[in-house]
Amino acid sequence: MSRQRKTSRSNVILRGLGVARGIAIGPAHIAESGTLDVPTHELAKSAIAGEIERFHAAIAEAGTQIDKLRRKASSLPESAAEELGYLLDAHNHMLEGSRLVRGVDKRIRDDRLNAEAAVSQEVSEIALVFSQMEDSYLAARARDVRDVGQRLLRCLMKTPYQAFTDLPEGSVIVADELTPADTALLDPHKVAGFVTATGGAQDHTGIMARSLGLPAVVGMAELLQQARPGDTVIVDGGAGQIILNPDAQTMSRYQERRAELLRQARKLDRLRNVPAITRDQELVKLQANIDLPNEIDAALSSGAEGIGLFRTEYVFMNRDDLPDEDEQYVQLRSIVEGMEGRPITIRTLDVGNDKLPYSLDEHLGASPNPAMGLRAIRLSLKFQKLLDTQLAAILRAGAHGPVRILLPMISSPQEVREVRDAMRKVVRRLKRRKVAIADPLPPIGAMIEIPGAALAADSLARDCEFFSIGTNDLTMYTLAIDRGDDQVAHLYSPLHPAVLRLIQFTTAAALRARIPINVCGEMAGDERMTALLLGLGIRDLSMTATALPRVKQRIRSLDLNEATKRTQAIMDQSDPGMVAVLLDDFNALA
Ligand code: PEP
Ligand code: MG
Repeated sequence: MSRQRKTSRSNVILRGLGVARGIAIGPAHIAESGTLDVPTHELAKSAIAGEIERFHAAIAEAGTQIDKLRRKASSLPESAAEELGYLLDAHNHMLEGSRLVRGVDKRIRDDRLNAEAAVSQEVSEIALVFSQMEDSYLAARARDVRDVGQRLLRCLMKTPYQAFTDLPEGSVIVADELTPADTALLDPHKVAGFVTATGGAQDHTGIMARSLGLPAVVGMAELLQQARPGDTVIVDGGAGQIILNPDAQTMSRYQERRAELLRQARKLDRLRNVPAITRDQELVKLQANIDLPNEIDAALSSGAEGIGLFRTEYVFMNRDDLPDEDEQYVQLRSIVEGMEGRPITIRTLDVGNDKLPYSLDEHLGASPNPAMGLRAIRLSLKFQKLLDTQLAAILRAGAHGPVRILLPMISSPQEVREVRDAMRKVVRRLKRRKVAIADPLPPIGAMIEIPGAALAADSLARDCEFFSIGTNDLTMYTLAIDRGDDQVAHLYSPLHPAVLRLIQFTTAAALRARIPINVCGEMAGDERMTALLLGLGIRDLSMTATALPRVKQRIRSLDLNEATKRTQAIMDQSDPGMVAVLLDDFNALA
């Protein structure tokens, strides 16, 4: 059974997980039907069975998503939980052998339509019938059918909401889900911020929001029930809440806060050219993480001394074909040249889990547990051509400026050795082609983001020329908490003593082996953590450019000697809560 939506009320506050700080105010753009460009083509007779299977796999995935939303709904206040529960039941019902499913099956079988076109046509037909009904309750079901159709299309196309191009400027995007690939397409000049019904504390959608400087809140189950197109939305990314249709008083309060945040940002801008040095004269290197080549300007204007992490996987997203060596080279070269002699750390393809470019669909396959499956370096080593192509592009880009090669999800020295072997062959091939390459060859380093790699850091250091600690995944795997799951987001904390000990152990191993080490996980960009990371021996931090000035300010305000003493006290703790208390107390002294 479904319900009609409530009419908009004033000052409706909804809470979720704040993943990117800042205040955005703008009209809601509800990302829904019509935004997808649905492909239509005729199937060969032999392809019909496979297409029906693909459609049913999409139904299963949509069902899993609805179950997830239902579990979330149970934590809402009673009336909202009930309302949403009815809606989700109705949606689920439509996925279980309903007219919709039968109709789509028939269109695939009899009309030889591809699944996307079959869903789209069937949904339009059913929705039209409902919307023409006199009974307002039944008429409202047209919307449910469209919602379910939209969910199925997203599962089939693995390309949710692409068309964010013709929005009114300053819109706030309101969506069920935004994948990292969708977020990469947002233009911060057009979009003021976004809010989603699903999403976790530390997934790549949030990371992308911070890179783009877009205030964002995720994991708000009742969002699509409450928000309507054109509603005025205030997104308070810091507090993790939104306000729909604020009254005049609330609006002016938030406008003032937004202006104040801008003033603070301008003040921090002045730190761009001053060194990141502690009060007792210890220099810290601050670099930027980038996901897209066009973030170079932001990196430079934040005062970054280099790119500590370039996530190459975004080059593979939002496209059907794979980028070839020349395309990758041209892109990397533009980054290397753009950074004007500053070092660039290029990470090889780190796909899998929440980063699933459909250009790599055939390589990735299905996995019972994508976070632990064939992903990152494992995928590159299995499909050697992917690795060779990337290595060739990196080596060629390295002829134009200093680059390093960073390997994601390393779990054993053998994987590093295999990459070295591959690199040797690629070097020989490029030399035969008489192509200019990096000289000397780029250092090869490992992401330390699997607990086993941290615990074996001593032996791994023999095969690596540097380490980079990925605290996002290290926290996830150490604590067995999915970084993208909003239900356990409250348990996700890099301040857990187990995570801190792994960081400490890895740092000590790198110092003993005399190889450089940095932290490039999100912890590096959180100024609340800075004293602790320095106290653990880290002197190189890489973070999203928007966070860099705040971290620099924190470094300039602290005394390393004091920070080290406080870190020692923190490392004696066994309770994450106590760690946070000791850290907050130290930060408050600044
Ligand atoms: C990490 O895991 O900490 C990291 C920096 O890599 P990513 O966030 O891309 O997984
Ligand atoms: Mg990682």
